[in-house]
Amino acid sequence: MSDLTTNLARAEAYLARFRQNGVLNHVNGKAVAALDGSSFETLSPVDLQPLAQVAQGKAADVALAAAAAKAAFPAWRAMEGEARKALLHKIADAIEARAEEIAFVEAMDTGQSIRFMAKAAIRGAENFRYFADLAPQAQDGQSLRAKGQINMTSRTPIGPVGIITPWNTPFMLSTWKIAPALAAGCTVVHKPAEFSPLSARLLVEIAESAGLPAGVWNLVNGLGEEAGRALTEHPDIKAIGFVGESRTGAMIMKQGADTLKRVHFELGGKNPVIVFADADLERAADAAVFMIYSLNGERCTSSSRLLVEASIYDRFTAMVAEKARRIVVGHPLDPKTVVGPLIHPLHEKKVLDYIAIGRAEGATLAAGGTKVAGPGGGCYVSPTLFTNATNQMRIAQEEIFGPVLTAIPFADEAEALALANDVAYGLTGYLWTADVTRAFRFTDALEAGMIWVNSENLRHLSTPFGGVKNSGIGRDGAQWSFDFYMETKNIAFATTAHAIPKLGG
Ligand code: NAD
Repeated sequence: MSDLTTNLARAEAYLARFRQNGVLNHVNGKAVAALDGSSFETLSPVDLQPLAQVAQGKAADVALAAAAAKAAFPAWRAMEGEARKALLHKIADAIEARAEEIAFVEAMDTGQSIRFMAKAAIRGAENFRYFADLAPQAQDGQSLRAKGQINMTSRTPIGPVGIITPWNTPFMLSTWKIAPALAAGCTVVHKPAEFSPLSARLLVEIAESAGLPAGVWNLVNGLGEEAGRALTEHPDIKAIGFVGESRTGAMIMKQGADTLKRVHFELGGKNPVIVFADADLERAADAAVFMIYSLNGERCTSSSRLLVEASIYDRFTAMVAEKARRIVVGHPLDPKTVVGPLIHPLHEKKVLDYIAIGRAEGATLAAGGTKVAGPGGGCYVSPTLFTNATNQMRIAQEEIFGPVLTAIPFADEAEALALANDVAYGLTGYLWTADVTRAFRFTDALEAGMIWVNSENLRHLSTPFGGVKNSGIGRDGAQWSFDFYMETKNIAFATTAHAIPKLGG
């Protein structure tokens, strides 16, 4: 990685087109402005200056995009799985070829540090390759025998789908949602988040440069209440894959009710990392620090509640506080930076308000807790640790979505489990213990969709991804994704001349 000055110059070169031409929608293979000509401004989290004007799509733009996705669907659905596989691999190649551009644009649009964004393209390409390889088998089903009957199941793509994504790690998340939809044979209308729209524009261009037919992937920028809402209400959009806040998920479910929309929700989290005294404490501390302070703490799977056995509580939280204080906060393009500016002044206010709430609730600030005067004057907040907290405090119950960790002691395993589960969310959990029997027992009872034992979040794409309780509905990954984007059909063949009830003679 080069130094900040060189990185800034490179980033500016990549951003120039957005500054000049804005961020357009993409419908039926063409870059287009919003039909009514309206646009909104997206800010750089570094200096709060405008980065670009973004097309502000509304219901009419969504209708055009949905019509394009509907028209492209029959041919895309009919494409042989092997051909779809080859094309999706080409998209992955094209993503890798533009890795630097993606990394710089994403870092400047989101405030995420380049040390993490440098891998965004590789991970995005991996998502495409993974689902590319599964594409030829997507329609395969099962053969189920019964007495006098053989059943055959198969899957068919559900139709055009809407994908609505949030502002955190937008490139990676968009690929994670769109790659399986395309591999399944669905066409797509994508509505990215208004705070970070740049990389979604790159992505659709990259896909078409690799040969994706026009209309298979459409992009409509806009506000959630306008473009997002219209997408969830459109009758030709058969399903909505949504990643975002739990309360937005609830709204989407209502909005989609009239058209009986199938929904898949990846929502918020307040994920516990549970550390028992018998754990490898140095590794556990590194993992806890990584999971809350990487990506600015703006990640759904962050370990935002630290539950520590009372006998090691002071020692362990002191280790975490020490590491937190040493984390470098700075410009996202500086290779030394770990924590960059938060996405937007509104979000920064939310995070700082929670820090004030934690203090007012009586928790102790063991590290951070302040706004940082970083380069450009953007939304920098220091890595923060609250100790002496209780699980009833708002900082222990509500998703802050920033670099803020709340540490709570527990007396024994039963209390650890009760605290871990006493929250509205259930996305991930991280357990640190050397006792394998306890690990089985504890993870069996822990209310979370994904749990890592003696590990930070290390993703294996074949495993199911998703949450329980307010953290989501449905799972992504491998066949779970295909079950969402496809309809399963069962056909029963009679194998004998069985007795048919004779009604009426
Ligand atoms: P958000 O819910 O505010 O917005 C997400 C998207 O929904 C945006 O594109 C927005 O424009 C759109 N939207 C808003 N209102 C809408 C409406 N009425 N109809 C349709 N679309 C609408 O979320 P955010 O603030 O952008 O992202 C942060 C949230 O996302 C956090 O809660 C985080 O935990 C969650 N998240 C979850 C996962 C996961 O996998 N579980 C991953 C990343 C982020």
